[in-house]
Order: sequence, then C-alpha cells, then structure tokens
Amino acid sequence: MGDCLFCRIVERKIPSKIVHEDELVVAFEDVNPQAPTHMLVIPRKHIPSLKETDAADAALLGHLMTVCAKIAKQKGLADSGYRLVTNTGPNGGQTVFHLHIHLLGGRPMEWPPG
Ligand code: AMP
Ligand code: ZN
Repeated sequence: MGDCLFCRIVERKIPSKIVHEDELVVAFEDVNPQAPTHMLVIPRKHIPSLKETDAADAALLGHLMTVCAKIAKQKGLADSGYRLVTNTGPNGGQTVFHLHIHLLGGRPMEWPPG
C-alpha cells in the first residue's frame, strides 16, 4: 500500500535500520525506542492489524513470533528476557496500521502496562 509507512519501509522507499529480513517478514529498529532493544517485526504483506487476521494467517503469525525469538537470542536477550507487544486498535494504542510486533528488551518491564 503506497500510503502505508511500514509498506514503504519494506519497499525501502524510506530508510530504516533493518536487522532481519526473509521472504515473509522484515525486522527493523523502532525510531523511538522504549527500551535498550526495541525492534519491530512486520509481515511484508500489508495487514492493517491483528483484527484482520484469520486461520489462513496462522503460519505467518507463527513465523513472526519465531523471528522475534531468533532476534532476541541474537541480541543476547534470551536469558534476561524480553517482551513482545502487538497493539491493536484504539484501546490497544495502535498508531501505525500495518501489523507489527514490538520486541522490547534490555531492561526490566513493568506490569500492568500503561
Ligand atoms: P504502535 O503504536 O504499536 O502502532 O507502534 C508504532 C511504532 O512505530 C512506534 O513505536 C513508533 O516509534 C514506530 N515508528 C514510527 N515511524 C517509524 C519509522 N519511520 N521507523 C521505525 N519505527 C517507526
Ligand atoms: Zn502496510
């Protein structure tokens, strides 16, 4: 989608610090990091949010999660731990409407989230 920020990152039409990519997903550093490690892992395919997914997306969603785990391991976060977040819709605090998983680590996280 031409007007989607993250589609433009996938297409490399706007710059980002990409840390992983494969045929299904791209991972890059969040421009406004909320933790020492803050990556966004997104599908190449434009899906606005988790709301628009169904059983046909199960393999893609599983792949997004395993890529998060792989990046976390590469960043040395496997033992200290980390948090995955997918904000969905207005109450979820979603601001960019291309599905993404936040990978946050490098500091203790609080609960409940704000
Ligand atoms: P959310 O609020 O869950 O939709 O998350 C959107 C995230 O995208 C925020 O953490 C922003 O800091 C991040 N973001 C916005 N623009 C960019 C960009 N150009 N490159 C990297 N991250 C971005
Ligand atoms: Zn998009």
